[in-house]
Amino acid sequence: MTINPPLLQIDRLKTYYPIRKGIVSRTVGYVKAVDDISLNIYEGETVGLVGESGCGKSTIGRSIVRLENPFEGRILFQNKDITHSTQKELKPIRTKLQIIFQDPYSSLNPRKRINDILAEPFIAHRLVQRNEVQGKVDRLLDMVGLPRAYKNRYPHEFSGGQRQRIGIARAISFEPKLIVCDEPVSALDVSIQAQILNLLADLQKELNLTYLFIAHGIGAVKYISTRIAVMYLGKIVEIGDKEELFKLPKHPYTQILLGAYPAPDPTLRSSKRIIIQGDVPSPANPPQGCRFHTRCPYVQERCRQEEPPLTGGGHGVACHFPIN
Ligand code: SF4
Repeated sequence: MTINPPLLQIDRLKTYYPIRKGIVSRTVGYVKAVDDISLNIYEGETVGLVGESGCGKSTIGRSIVRLENPFEGRILFQNKDITHSTQKELKPIRTKLQIIFQDPYSSLNPRKRINDILAEPFIAHRLVQRNEVQGKVDRLLDMVGLPRAYKNRYPHEFSGGQRQRIGIARAISFEPKLIVCDEPVSALDVSIQAQILNLLADLQKELNLTYLFIAHGIGAVKYISTRIAVMYLGKIVEIGDKEELFKLPKHPYTQILLGAYPAPDPTLRSSKRIIIQGDVPSPANPPQGCRFHTRCPYVQERCRQEEPPLTGGGHGVACHFPIN
């Protein structure tokens, strides 16, 4: 059996933000938003990245599309190292590597009609002949389920769900290989969330897309993902196939996240509910040893001293005493 190389390789990625103080703005420390993360994403799959707010999951997404500059580590897309690529070098790559934001409104020019917003990538990147642009815009509207008659409207005339459809239309206009979906449904009503998730799933089949799907709610991640990575305080603490991770979560933090999710199928519910304690520590000063030890109900002395590595291959877990 031939195993294709990953579409995206993240190798020991660190994205830190300097903490500056004093008149000369001296760097006195770093907020370690993403701290030594490795992750491969293969063509056609959807990797769900889940964790509490502030755990660094959106920073990973923004680092991949180079909206943030990595501090250390490597990002390879289609085997090309893009970690430190210049904006000019990134231009052809951006057509294949797109991002959808939680709030697409902030990235839509309020003074432009949707028709112009959607035509822009085709013109700027010279993707098609001028006389073909209108046909392409109409096709995009069809694909995301918006009536063609809406193309003369301005962004403020659309609902949140419709704006997200516009954001998706813009992302797929380049025929990308990978889309980073950064909390695309978090701000939407539950019924609209389902529609957007279904749209993303349909487009994935139609266009052979690969997704990194970022969310703080386990429900959306469970629906759309093939694999799930759980993040805590800048680290991946567990990763595995969706079914296995839901059935047999090994990390105490994963078990807590799943316990908070009301699974409709009782066989997928965690057998034992545990309660999370305390607040999330600061990523500027993460705890020594296991980062979860200040809140873990199973903490032991070793956890306070020694950081557990992510081990276990296909179903990896970073815990000295994983749950059986
Ligand atoms: Fe809990 Fe220790 Fe495992 Fe960390 S290493 S999750 S503190 S049991």
